[in-house]
Amino acid sequence: MELTSIKTIKDIQQKFGFTFKKGLGQNFLTSSGVIDKIVEASECENGVIEIGPGFGVLTHALSKSSKKVVSIEIDQRLIEVLDYTLSDCDNVKIINTDVLKTDLSKIISDEFGNAKISVAANLPYYITTPIIVKLIEDKLPLNSIVVMVQKEVAQRICAKPDTKDYGAISVLCQYYCTPCIVTNVPASLFVPPPKVDSAVLKLKLRDKPPVSAIDEAMFFKCVKAAFSQRRKTLLNCLSSFFGMDKSELSAKMESIGITPSRRGETLTLQEFAALADMMYGMQK
Ligand code: SAM
Repeated sequence: MELTSIKTIKDIQQKFGFTFKKGLGQNFLTSSGVIDKIVEASECENGVIEIGPGFGVLTHALSKSSKKVVSIEIDQRLIEVLDYTLSDCDNVKIINTDVLKTDLSKIISDEFGNAKISVAANLPYYITTPIIVKLIEDKLPLNSIVVMVQKEVAQRICAKPDTKDYGAISVLCQYYCTPCIVTNVPASLFVPPPKVDSAVLKLKLRDKPPVSAIDEAMFFKCVKAAFSQRRKTLLNCLSSFFGMDKSELSAKMESIGITPSRRGETLTLQEFAALADMMYGMQK
């Protein structure tokens, strides 16, 4: 079955009376070239979790390259479709649930034991960021996360300091992973085509963060504070977020070489770590 073919997709739709639900981000991929790139980038040999299999186009390709595929799909209507389209894949398990409400650590230990696995997906765009944040913050035993996302989201995640795209999500992803764009994907390669262009983003999980702060929670509080009001100076953001006196803060910032009038979006990961250690010392 050629699951990338528009005719096959239409035939399946007709056979099962399936209509796309826009609210579930159902834009199905029709490019075997892009699917090959996702599979190749995903380092999925030991096992892979897929989010949102749809009709199973990526699932099918992953099952050829991986020992085991566990796919999480929210739409109950797709379960019988997947039974049909994946009938020749005996290493695929479908779990009918909402990925955001799922204990992924438990799924990984139940289904894959101690193996380090990967995540691969053409994500539903209405929840791209919460899914990526969950995958990272749950501290799962992952090699890499390879996901199709809106092009702008991929650019934000890969953005360097002092650019308009750099934000809290860039810092979170770059702290735990090395991100890169594998390929750009035009909207015309999906049915139905989404309103935005897309990109395949690879997040290679780091063994350890590139900078170390005494208190990781304080590091991320500083990141949140720094990006809380983009037009304000870092000093103003920090003093209103932490409820602290500006003159004392300002002097401390100068002492670690961070000019108080800078904007939060100019800070590198190293500077965020220095700032977090400074705040940790002041709040002790
Ligand atoms: N993998 C297929 C492909 O590439 O053609 C479909 C990708 S489509 C962009 C997103 C898929 O995610 C749909 O199958 C949709 O039903 C599913 N989905 C949406 N929200 C979800 C959620 N919260 N949890 C799990 N799956 C979800």
